Amino acid sequence: MKVFIAVDMEGATGVVHNDQLMPEGRGYAAAQRLLTGDVNAVINGILSIDPTADIVVGDGHGIMRNILLDQLHPSARLVVGSAKPSNKPLCQLEGVQFGADVGMCIGYHTMAGTPGGLLAHTYVGSLIRELRLNGRPAGEVEVNAAVFGSYGVPLAMVSGNSELEQEIRSWNPSSVFVSTKQTLGPTAAICMTPSATQALLEKGAAKAIQDQSTWHRSPNRVTRIEVDTYRREQCQRAVLCEGIEQVGEMTFAAEAPTAADAFRLFWRACTMAMDEQAVWLS
Ligand SMILES: [Zn+2]
Repeated sequence: MKVFIAVDMEGATGVVHNDQLMPEGRGYAAAQRLLTGDVNAVINGILSIDPTADIVVGDGHGIMRNILLDQLHPSARLVVGSAKPSNKPLCQLEGVQFGADVGMCIGYHTMAGTPGGLLAHTYVGSLIRELRLNGRPAGEVEVNAAVFGSYGVPLAMVSGNSELEQEIRSWNPSSVFVSTKQTLGPTAAICMTPSATQALLEKGAAKAIQDQSTWHRSPNRVTRIEVDTYRREQCQRAVLCEGIEQVGEMTFAAEAPTAADAFRLFWRACTMAMDEQAVWLS
């Protein structure tokens, strides 16, 4: 079985603050170890059911060089490097186009604007006030599930901050969900230790691989991604991207025959819309 694991960092074990999310932060090195531990636990769970599984891990947070390759389970391969469109037009899911039987989203968070959400945002915190997928507000996990769906890949498991469960259940009743911490507010949570969360992640991944009734299949269909930006100038820059439609003063849209194509267009527009060249995209 081929498994693609998309990995973010805000929903990893013990991560509650921006200080842990960027290389210049004091908590970053420790957070890299926590994140790598979470991913290894998921890999162990997959391998407990399918010892010959072909596993690709997509490092999908910020600079996208967070997971410690020398500590990653030797059965996995790692997609590393920045998400500029010339590198990774599918951003967190780059690599899935080479084929997968099942997908997972590990270490995730809720969408921008979620009341009390821990480190809540949608892709680019300074740019996206709200993202709508086919007319409904959506977070990164739902968008990724739609892109997985373009390639016929079901979403079997999600892990992250406790309030994310409610967000994903609004569109996905079946995927295994593992909470790594109980959210208290935007930068605080009641955290379990890595050994405790790793046991849950391993068990959850085993169930997700074994029990195909947990697999959520997003349809492969015409997809519209609409974005409200925080400022007019951001939207003005986004609509310079060929194929992007201006919907309002601060709203642009990407529409395409598949979610993957709509996503590539959306992501190119986002990288053009940012206020300055983001260091994490270099
Ligand atoms: Zn992130």
